[in-house]
Amino acid sequence: MNIVGPVIDGKQLEIASGDIVEVINPATGKVIAQQYCCDSECVDKIVSSSKAAYHSEEWQNLSPSGRGYLLMKLADLIEAHAGKLVDLELQDTGKPISQLKNGEIPLTASIIRFYAGAADKIEGRVKSSSTGTFQFTMYEPYGVVAGILPWNYPLVNVAMKVAPALAAGNAIIIKPSVDTPLTSVEFAKLCIEAGIPKGIVNVALGKGSSTGESLIGHPDVKKISFTGSTAIGQHIQRKAVDQMKSVNLELGGKNAIIVFADADLDKAADAAIISAFVNAGQLCVSCSRLLVQDSIAEEFKSILKEKLDNLSVGNPNDEGTLVGPMITKAQYDITLEYIKIAIDEGCNILTGGKKMNFADSLADGWWIEPTILSDVKADMRVATEEIFGPVLSMISFKDEAEAVTISNSVIYGLSGSVWTKDGSRSMRMTKSLNTGIIWVNCMMDGYPQIPVPPHKMSGTGVELGVEGLMAYCKQKSAVVAYDDKAPVGWNL
Ligand code: NAD
Repeated sequence: MNIVGPVIDGKQLEIASGDIVEVINPATGKVIAQQYCCDSECVDKIVSSSKAAYHSEEWQNLSPSGRGYLLMKLADLIEAHAGKLVDLELQDTGKPISQLKNGEIPLTASIIRFYAGAADKIEGRVKSSSTGTFQFTMYEPYGVVAGILPWNYPLVNVAMKVAPALAAGNAIIIKPSVDTPLTSVEFAKLCIEAGIPKGIVNVALGKGSSTGESLIGHPDVKKISFTGSTAIGQHIQRKAVDQMKSVNLELGGKNAIIVFADADLDKAADAAIISAFVNAGQLCVSCSRLLVQDSIAEEFKSILKEKLDNLSVGNPNDEGTLVGPMITKAQYDITLEYIKIAIDEGCNILTGGKKMNFADSLADGWWIEPTILSDVKADMRVATEEIFGPVLSMISFKDEAEAVTISNSVIYGLSGSVWTKDGSRSMRMTKSLNTGIIWVNCMMDGYPQIPVPPHKMSGTGVELGVEGLMAYCKQKSAVVAYDDKAPVGWNL
């Protein structure tokens, strides 16, 4: 049986003082590894190691461009070790192999390269002064930061935390989801191979309620960057107040794709399907609400149905597969429950709606048919609550004003997508929608250079883009007198 353990000072521990948790392949339901988790004593050791590494001369003497150089080497190593990373992620998440090879490995490398290039471009401002002083602002790292990850994109998420944290000069402790620890551990090992000093990237394994709690409450962890559910994000924010820690929270979403009658319907249907069903709908920026102008609703349904018939769901090892299983059993159960709720609420099932039964090795996996619900009303539970599974709720609207009202009616505000050939309308919609990112006549483009700043209950702070780098920097200001004219006290 494979063993996976926490990483301290560049070494993977093969014993740990916390629980032992099984890691399961969601496509097959089979146990693939035993995971040694951290109790609070182990978390203390990890934080001490990170703190010592952060204060070491080796790290403190490294220039920003030196940090960038190490990150460039890390990106090269991600590509060089793509085969192993793909295999681990395939086993751990059941993601289709083509998506991993052609999507997640290149995206991971490009996120790291983006922040490698940005490491020596962190700049403050110099203010003009007539008081015999230089007045300037600057940025500093926080010290030891914690990156807490969800299970949906383990490898991409680890890069999204580690690369900007290190580019800004911090040390980071990663806590992956207990459901998907494998690539975080491998990533930390590649950091050592890239020449990143030992202890700068450590990994604490374990459940949120034990390992996560110890980490966020530790006084030497100065910043928390969390990606996960809104409920846990709220808990972390409340807890962080005790020690006045800075937090970055990337949380849930209930995003809408809005299709107007004048749109390129074929392309809009592709976008709706990719967005709703990639990664079996387990993606924070997925559009799980489909708002269609009523005059084209029936036509759009038939285009969607035809396209869904050609969507290949099944064995993640097959190059042609586009949709895999639910990554966790809990999420599988929740998604089936929501389909039942939809039927009880009076929705119709346009397509899908059932668990999938495979023979052979996939028989015990967590499979759900890509599902489109029609006749959904904007205030139903399936249209307002995050499901995080392959379920798309189709809602009709009359005009632009109604589309905006429905789209903005949920508590979340992460992403949105608008499809129309009317340029003025596309700008009006961009201004009116309360979401952090809006794609017009495109979908999910712009990574890693465009930030995704969550609105409303989708979080606070920002990830990706240059703004995502600044989230790992503390601001400082200084006023330095250069002659005797400098005042003591205000000079207004
Ligand atoms: P989750 O909130 O259950 O867990 C996320 C992480 O937090 C896990 O590592 C978990 O162990 C940890 N955790 C749980 N309780 C904790 C505690 N008390 N203290 C510290 N850590 C704790 O989320 P999940 O089920 O892993 O992921 C799905 C959710 O993540 C969805 O809501 C999805 O929308 C969201 N998500 C958001 C984004 C984004 O960028 N906005 C991206 C991906 C996923």
